[in-house]
Amino acid sequence: PRLANQIAAGEVVERPASVVKELLENSIDSGANKVDLEIDQGGVKLIRIRDNGGGITKEDLPLALSRHATSKIIELEDLEAVATLGFRGEALASISSVSRLTLTSRQPGNESAWQVQTEGREMDAVIAPAAHPEGTSVEVRDLFFNTPARRKFLKTEKTEFKHLDEVVKRQALGRFDVAFQLRHNGKVIHQLRQADSEIERERRIASVCGSAFVDNAMKVDMEASASGLRLWGWIGMPTFSRSQADLQYFFVNGRIIRDKVVSHAVRQAYQDVLYHGRHPAYVLYLELDPALVDVNVHPTKHEVRFRESRLVHDFLFRTIHRVIADARP
Ligand code: ADP
Ligand code: MG
Repeated sequence: PRLANQIAAGEVVERPASVVKELLENSIDSGANKVDLEIDQGGVKLIRIRDNGGGITKEDLPLALSRHATSKIIELEDLEAVATLGFRGEALASISSVSRLTLTSRQPGNESAWQVQTEGREMDAVIAPAAHPEGTSVEVRDLFFNTPARRKFLKTEKTEFKHLDEVVKRQALGRFDVAFQLRHNGKVIHQLRQADSEIERERRIASVCGSAFVDNAMKVDMEASASGLRLWGWIGMPTFSRSQADLQYFFVNGRIIRDKVVSHAVRQAYQDVLYHGRHPAYVLYLELDPALVDVNVHPTKHEVRFRESRLVHDFLFRTIHRVIADARP
């Protein structure tokens, strides 16, 4: 099983950022509305995440680290309507096979917390009592300590942290209802409170994307009553600035995606109105009937397939086109 886990780990665990992505998704799946991340040395030395979610029972603790142990698919039909972010049951097993991992959890209402530890191998299921508030902590130390080949592919601390930070930003933009904190080498990088109101959401956007973006962005909120499609968010005027090149966030039902239909529609809308500028910056949220979108196209889940891609494309194009045209000086 150890070998199998390490092979599987190649698919999931590429670098610290991929660990953080999986752990963040687990915390959010657990219903947490507060997630704290502590990172040392770009995540290679330490990734510690703590959430206040539903926790894991004592019996399930060792199970959570074994392959294909997911609590998220009860019936096969569930695959049709996956509401949670993770559903493969491999992330923790994979991560634990290439690091020193400690999983500590306390379920709400329980007196005590429990902990399991692994060191890059199948666990001996030693469950020890621990002190922990309600929720779950995962501590990942010395990533790839036992897989030097993979460790060799890691870039500088700065680069690894940049990737990791990007993962946190995406989650933070996708879930305004969750508070996030990120520290790197003891320094606070993001301190984001729950954002329930419009003003708080805008404050979060400014904090994550920079106030220059928000100050110059146009607000979008459009609903097509017939199709039930809704697009809301912020779009900026395109610039030539390279620094904005990666400020393109598109969420479908709360999930960040990269999709040809979407990027084409956005680009077309911009180009139709403005002939200058290369890098449209946007943070956009598309909401639609989950039955109209297939999220299981790719295991990394950044891809979707729209059942009615023409409809989606036209709606995006028309909406963005109108907003840009109205704002044009
Ligand atoms: P998946 O998320 O695909 O189910 P994972 O390996 O990421 O697989 O996690 C395995 C299981 O461990 C989850 O299904 C869940 O039951 C439990 N788990 C992991 N992280 C948490 C967490 N932060 N809070 C509560 N349960 C968790
Ligand atoms: Mg998961």
